[in-house]
Amino acid sequence: MKKIRNYYDILARLQSALDGSASRHDLGTIRTPSDGYPLIRIVLGQGNPYRVLISAGIHGDEPAGVETVCTFLEQGGNLLAKGPWEISVLPCINPFGYEHGTRNNYEGKDLNREFKNSDPPREVSLVRDGTPFPFHLTLELHEDVDSPGYYLYQKTATARQEGLGFRIVERVEPHMAINRNEMIEEMEAEGGVIHRLKNPGEMDFWPMALYALAQGTQACLTLESSPRFPMATRVKAHLAAISGALEHFPILMERESRIKNPRILKGG
Ligand SMILES: [Zn+2]
Repeated sequence: MKKIRNYYDILARLQSALDGSASRHDLGTIRTPSDGYPLIRIVLGQGNPYRVLISAGIHGDEPAGVETVCTFLEQGGNLLAKGPWEISVLPCINPFGYEHGTRNNYEGKDLNREFKNSDPPREVSLVRDGTPFPFHLTLELHEDVDSPGYYLYQKTATARQEGLGFRIVERVEPHMAINRNEMIEEMEAEGGVIHRLKNPGEMDFWPMALYALAQGTQACLTLESSPRFPMATRVKAHLAAISGALEHFPILMERESRIKNPRILKGG
């Protein structure tokens, strides 16, 4: 199978983007018949009170997420982490798919259907074992070739973060049209947000977002850009979504905590 991108270019870009305050964790190596790919997780702002996981490249044919993560780190993710956030980044969960432009991994498996599996593909077990769930927030960067514009899936543990998806849509709209269809992917949608999703216990398989939720994450957002737009536009849209989420999540949490007893989730 022909390679159309190089995973090692991504690793090199990430390495040169990190300053001394960032840490890189090696999760293990994905070995295919012809290659070995080290999976990594990067942490910025270690010890800050709110914890977010930003992940990309679980579907190899959706490269804008990986490009966004690189750009995020190159353009000042380090600065964002000086605020209230500890930022964990999984830059590319499916390196084989990324290099070959395939949705699935080298075994033909859709990794985003394997998170409930007790014996999952190695990419999934490395992510589950090497990532300290739960987080306050998870942001997963995807693309949907069938969509005329941006939209997102939102699943929250409680009502307090329910407004987050709409705040993100507002941030994205100056950069990319929003998919405001009433049905997206055969699910009810509202202003670019799909939020009537099943609960983890009702599903036979879990995407990564439901695994994150089942582990105690407060808000899980799966962000879908449209590859009908140029790469630079898709990256801007995803970056706007990330900054909107990081800005609004603490506001929503703190608004609630004035009413209820404040308690910040401690990760472990
Ligand atoms: Zn995807």
